[in-house]
Formats: sequence, C-alpha cells, structure tokens
Amino acid sequence: MKNHLTRSIRFLVAGAALLLLLISCQTSPQAQIPAPTIQPTAVASSEGELSANPAQLPPLPYDYGALATAIDAETMKLHHDRHHAAYVENLNAALTQQPNLQNRSVEALLRDLNSLPEAIRTTVQNNAGGHLNHTIFWQIMSPNGGGQPTGEIAQAINQSFGSFDNFRKQFNQAGGDRFGSGWVWLVRNPQGQLQITTTPNQDNPITTGNFPLLGNDVWEHAYYLRYQNRRAEYLSNWWNVVNWQEVNRRWQRASQR
Ligand code: MN
Repeated sequence: MKNHLTRSIRFLVAGAALLLLLISCQTSPQAQIPAPTIQPTAVASSEGELSANPAQLPPLPYDYGALATAIDAETMKLHHDRHHAAYVENLNAALTQQPNLQNRSVEALLRDLNSLPEAIRTTVQNNAGGHLNHTIFWQIMSPNGGGQPTGEIAQAINQSFGSFDNFRKQFNQAGGDRFGSGWVWLVRNPQGQLQITTTPNQDNPITTGNFPLLGNDVWEHAYYLRYQNRRAEYLSNWWNVVNWQEVNRRWQRASQR
C-alpha cells in the first residue's frame, strides 16, 4: 500500500515536471519573465534631457501660424521642419561614427565637448546645440504667451534688473549687438544669479556652465521673411509670445540642480 502511494506521488511529480517542460518550450522566455526595463538612454540622461539615441525632432507644440503676433507661419514651418530637422539629422549622422556617445544625452554631450573625438567635436557642438536650442525655443513660446512675467521668475527679474522693462531693454540690446548668427539668453549662472548673455552660432549656455531659462534666436532664418534686416523689431515683437509658465518651470529646474 505504502509502496503504491510512493509510486503515485512519483508519477505525479514526473507528470508535473513534464508539463512545466512543455510549457517552457512553447512560450518564449520573454512571456515568462518580464523583459528587464533597461532603457538605452537611462544611464546618461538625467530627467528631462534630450536623447541622442537617436535624436528626434519634437513636434511643434502649436500650429505654424499660432505665434503670428511675433513670427509668421512660413518662417515657423521652415524653421522647425527644415532648420531644426537638419540639426537633428546631422547630429545623428555624426554619432553613427561614435555609437558609444549615443548613450549620452544631448545636454551631456554639450557640457563636455572637450571629451569628444576631434573629428566630430565641431559637428556635435553645432548640431547638438542646434537641436537643444530650438527644442527650448519652441517650448518657451506660446500662443497664450506674452505680457508681464509671472511667478518666481518675475520677482527674480525685478531683483536682478530693477524691472521687467529694464530687463527687456538689456536683453533686446544684447540680441541686437550679437554680430552675425547666434542667440541671446537669460541664464542662471553657476553662482545662481540671473544673467543676460549671448552665444555665437548654435552654442548653448550649458557648455559654459550656465542654465538657459529663456533664449531668442537671432539667426536671420528666424526673422528675415517678415522683418528683413529689422532685427530690433523682431526682438521687440517676440515678447508677445514668451511663455512665462515654461520659463518658470525652467527656473525651478535650474534651482534644483
Ligand atoms: Mn534657428
């Protein structure tokens, strides 16, 4: 009797083992064990930073014509669909030569340009810069923008520049004085202070340790169709679309670093 019971148990165990074996052969390993959620960019990309694996053109957050109080639809279309797209394309092309660098974020590449191989350094500087600059640019504008600054950035601007009018005047002056192509920025410098600065070409302030809060593109491609050589008029109208909510969000992010 005992012998019979032992044999039955053995039979059951063997049957169960066979069943498990059959199940494991019929289902893929992924189905049994959840695939590890390793994201290729997770190592290098701090929260909110842009992936270079590959870099992707973000969609415009509004219609081409939505910022018409400052920028015409045709300029927006060319600027986003052609100029920005080209920076993304060129960055990706350069990084195919150095696949290990694709694991860094766009920001990380720009923060440490000297660590890049010389053969692609300038290409990355120009095109990672172009990608980051324009991504920030679309976000810090809005059809519902303009008017006086709001939130904490309004107080910070008043403390640093005396008034919004003063700040705007200095910013427009700096943008007008930037010779050739480049950008004019409001940054949080490494000492935590607000500062107006300009960069040539597609250089981004993070390369020199500053965090960009607000930036205007003073390349001719940003304004020439509508304003021709009247950069000052473009700089002045641009305040009609500044998205202070997003600038405040960037200020928060900068302050947490
Ligand atoms: Mn541009």
